Amino acid sequence: MIETVDDIKTIANVGTGTMGHAITLQFALAGYPVHLVGRGEASLEKAMKAIRSDAEDFAEAGLLKDGDTLDAVLARITGYADYASGVADVDFVIEAVSENLDLKKSIWAEIEQAAPDDAILATNTSGLSPTEIQSALKKSERFVVAHFWNPAQLMPLVEVVPGEKTDPHVVDVTFDLMTKIGKKPAKLNKEALGFIGNRLQMAVLREEFHIIQERIADAATVDDVMKYSLGRRWNLVGPLASIDLGGLDVFYNISTYLFDDMDNGTGPSPLLAEKVKAGDLGAKTGQGFFSWQGEDGKRIIETRNKALLRALKNDAADAAAAQA
Ligand code: NAD
Repeated sequence: MIETVDDIKTIANVGTGTMGHAITLQFALAGYPVHLVGRGEASLEKAMKAIRSDAEDFAEAGLLKDGDTLDAVLARITGYADYASGVADVDFVIEAVSENLDLKKSIWAEIEQAAPDDAILATNTSGLSPTEIQSALKKSERFVVAHFWNPAQLMPLVEVVPGEKTDPHVVDVTFDLMTKIGKKPAKLNKEALGFIGNRLQMAVLREEFHIIQERIADAATVDDVMKYSLGRRWNLVGPLASIDLGGLDVFYNISTYLFDDMDNGTGPSPLLAEKVKAGDLGAKTGQGFFSWQGEDGKRIIETRNKALLRALKNDAADAAAAQA
């Protein structure tokens, strides 16, 4: 019986891709034995290679737990090529397979048959309805969303979201588990499309698309405005706390004339639709809002990840200083 987070001893992660390998690593870094469940030996091998590489970055940055070693972290992970044995005998299952409702429903029905009756079952869906997914389950009250952000081993946020049938206790224990593995969980009271993070992201993007389309500024300028103003500030003081500091009357006055002038469109942006139709999908095709011809997207990701590791180090130092 999972009464508290301390009753969770063993984790299974189903899915070996971008998110699955990183979530597996996050639990192993926190000291949990993790069953990494994939479709076959080849995908497990590929995921283990990625896990090793990411774990090496943690070790190099001095971010392993006190007394832990790279080998010990990796030794906590065991690969399973079939669901039945992978999820038997674990206390918490997190699923990170492709974002397809029918696929998730059928995989969850299979997982539930093999997992212990009282295990908590969590999906890393980006935005599918947990109520829909949990309809495939017999004991649907133990199902919840734990939405990690990419790269999952480096981004602190995990959104914890109940479906209509989810037991609030399951939400609380999942929240505590995310805290225990070093994440900054955010608990939603009820499900909403896009949860919180993607609603905020799309609100900003809708206005960025609009500014470019209206030729108010080009893509590089509008991205720079975000990076060097709000991006910096909101990392330290959130948007609502920021306006508290600025004075709510000021923002009330701005609201009286600005909202009317902003994009209130309801469908995908015409600018985005045009780019997708032209096959300009971003770095993967060489052209998106920026040209990626000859530009090393991998290098940008590496630089970003190093900065995220530094941020984690700062978080750890701040936490240690607060305890001292
Ligand atoms: P991915 O494509 O990298 O990995 C998908 C995994 O699903 C692979 O292990 C693949 O083998 C498995 N899979 C696909 N079809 C399958 C099938 N028929 N049966 C069994 N397994 C199957 O995808 P990802 O980016 O890791 O995304 C996984 C989940 O995480 C999705 O729900 C996605 O929306 C969510 N998510 C992704 C991101 C992101 O930025 N990539 C961020 C947050 C959440």
